[in-house]
Amino acid sequence: MASQRKLLILGSTGSIGTQALEIVRHNPDELSVTGLSANTNWQLLARQINEFKPSYAFIKDAQLLPDLRSAVSHNQTRILTDQNELLELVKNGAYDVLLNALVGFAGFIPTVEALKSDKKVALANKESLVVGGELLREYCQRDHRRLIPVDSEHSAILQCLTGEQDDTIEKLIITASGGPFRELDPARMKDIKVEDALNHPNWDMGAKITIDSATMMNKGLEVIEAHWLFDLPLDKIEAVIHPQSIIHSMVTFIDGSTKAQLGLPDMKVPIQYAITYPERWSLETPRMDWGVQQQLTFTPVDHKRFPCYKLALDAISEGGYAPTVLNAANEVAVERFLNKEIRYDHIAVVVEKSLEGISPGSPITVGALHEADTETRNFAQQLRLNHS
Ligand code: NAD
Ligand code: MG
Repeated sequence: MASQRKLLILGSTGSIGTQALEIVRHNPDELSVTGLSANTNWQLLARQINEFKPSYAFIKDAQLLPDLRSAVSHNQTRILTDQNELLELVKNGAYDVLLNALVGFAGFIPTVEALKSDKKVALANKESLVVGGELLREYCQRDHRRLIPVDSEHSAILQCLTGEQDDTIEKLIITASGGPFRELDPARMKDIKVEDALNHPNWDMGAKITIDSATMMNKGLEVIEAHWLFDLPLDKIEAVIHPQSIIHSMVTFIDGSTKAQLGLPDMKVPIQYAITYPERWSLETPRMDWGVQQQLTFTPVDHKRFPCYKLALDAISEGGYAPTVLNAANEVAVERFLNKEIRYDHIAVVVEKSLEGISPGSPITVGALHEADTETRNFAQQLRLNHS
């Protein structure tokens, strides 16, 4: 047997994190857990610590430490709550793959530190590439295969590219479900309720990405993610609405041939592939039934209906700090919408207004990206909206 792969899972209590642990549960001889981390869900983190017995566990909210400690049934796990200790673990811990399943800008620094330390990163946290793609690319210049996407579209593209030469790629075609509002009358967008937006037709995911999927900001973030991950200009990346979510993405090559990766929507497939890459392991998931008549349909993305998608494309075309500002404004706007402080159609307004305030940037550094993120959050949080 090949040696056991050790995982450090950041965001282990989330949608991606818990599915990753299901994969570990099914491969006890091949996979083990070095560390787990959570924001506030100490109850679930405690159950995970009791089951997987990692060497380390991190809880961000220090006030929850006593609750967490009292729910842990053994002493094989060192429990941390100091961010610097967590980063030290990311840099120098005895693990093989960092699975970054954090949501938002919070995932950026761990990705930076892992890549700088020559670690392999299975990246669910697409926001890392949106805010600092240029830097991350530099950090893994010697070996791009150290940064493996978990996002289903990017995993599909990676699978299509296996065995191909980079200079034979003509176009990436990223599929999008179009979310729950792809046919809604745009005049009714302002009345969309939180509960409706959280109800995604094909995928069961964390709250932030579910809202991003409804606004299609998610697809915009994924175009930016693909741009950095596969080092391709924007005119070689296209998104198309495919409501069935069966084709996870495609690549057209210079001879006109197109390869696609298909399957029933199940995030465990790309999560496992990112952990085992370049190997492919068996996985028990529901399979497509090709004996049943079904339709796979495609429509272009309507920029008017999905202004957030357009804003993301504009931000990456502008470059510099614009994608960082886009991301920070979107995170705040989504949170304000989830808290019922702003209307659904105001998410795009908050992002647009935040992008208007950008001044031409200085050279991109981690510190300057942090500053741009913080400044934008303050602006987006305080922005007052016209409710007419
Ligand atoms: P989620 O909200 O379900 O889980 C997020 C995890 O991060 C939780 O464990 C939470 O405790 C932790 N966390 C949240 N904020 C934190 C903070 N400030 N500091 C430290 N920890 C924090 O999110 P998710 O749906 O699992 O998504 C995770 C990432 O994966 C996102 O970037 C998302 O875009 C991406 N992604 C998710 C899916 C999916 O199916 N869920 C698919 C593709 C990509
Ligand atoms: Mg995706």
